[in-house]
Amino acid sequence: MKKILVTRKLLRSCEEKAQGIFKATFNLNDELYSQKKLIEMSKGCDGILSALTDKLDANTINQLPDSIKIISNFAVGFGNIDLEAAKKRGITVTNTPDVLTDATAEIGVLLILGACRRASEGIEKAREGGWVWSADLLIGKQLTGTRLGILGMGRIGQKIAKVAKSLGMIIHYHNRSKLSEEKEQGAVYHKTLKDLLSVSDVLSICCPASKETIDMINKDTIEYLPKGAVVTNVARGDIVEDEAMIDALNRRKVYAVGLDVYKNEPNLNTGYLKHPSAFILPHLGSATKETRTAMANLAVDNLEEFFNTGNCKNKVN
Ligand code: NAP
Repeated sequence: MKKILVTRKLLRSCEEKAQGIFKATFNLNDELYSQKKLIEMSKGCDGILSALTDKLDANTINQLPDSIKIISNFAVGFGNIDLEAAKKRGITVTNTPDVLTDATAEIGVLLILGACRRASEGIEKAREGGWVWSADLLIGKQLTGTRLGILGMGRIGQKIAKVAKSLGMIIHYHNRSKLSEEKEQGAVYHKTLKDLLSVSDVLSICCPASKETIDMINKDTIEYLPKGAVVTNVARGDIVEDEAMIDALNRRKVYAVGLDVYKNEPNLNTGYLKHPSAFILPHLGSATKETRTAMANLAVDNLEEFFNTGNCKNKVN
């Protein structure tokens, strides 16, 4: 029986599934392992079922025991793992695509609605009490007829586009490569980030964090947005330069932000915490029972497929 380390607590049914297939070490208290502890805990194991909170950088990967042959990441994103370092050590890295698309797109749409319709301010006012309906109480931005720019029109971006279109939004997108007409569903392609940003009344960031995309939305690129644009991020915090975004909010270049993900999670920039036009969530993208179950089961299936065949269809390195 192969031995695996499961670095974070999973839903009970998923831990039972893993236990039926592997000799698994679970994290009963759901403690956040330091890199040192993770290396220590993985001794004697053949594989690791990791989460996005595990920082598997080159230094950590280089110190993993030789017995580790696979890191099965419990996420579609893998910015927490140095793929090259893993490859050099002959360690396969896998992810959990598709199963979290719908749940994450739901949060992507919630961010758009929450930021445009001033949900944070509305919730606060409703809780405070004493408010009186008036014709100009918390006037927000209507989505109908508004241009939505999707940065990263992949699985999640396409699903957000579909829902946004049904709300009357006009869809634009930028990827490095243009999609087929079937996948575009009438969306307008922009070859450059600058072109996309210049037509984005609302921006939805849906691309992965990578060397190319880190700080892609920064002091200079924010200026390409129309004045009073709304910026939402359901992908990864590293894509946005926070100081520049908070400055843009303060001078009303950006009307509002809707964020699920942050640099240095959970210690997000305090500028967002204090800002009334920031609609913020604690990284809830895939947080539904159905999706978290499907993700964990897929992460377990990835391990099983790899140990049985030496390969895995969800290999990313
Ligand atoms: P996906 O299907 O691989 O889509 C990614 C899209 O980004 C592709 O269309 C890709 O097109 C584009 N892209 C990649 N690099 C780019 C670049 N340098 N410039 C412009 N576009 C680029 O991935 P997905 O399943 O939709 O997931 C997207 C991301 O969402 C994940 O990587 C993850 O970080 C994040 N996510 C967040 C949560 C959450 O809880 N908030 C949950 C799930 C996923 P090209 O290759 O043609 O450029």
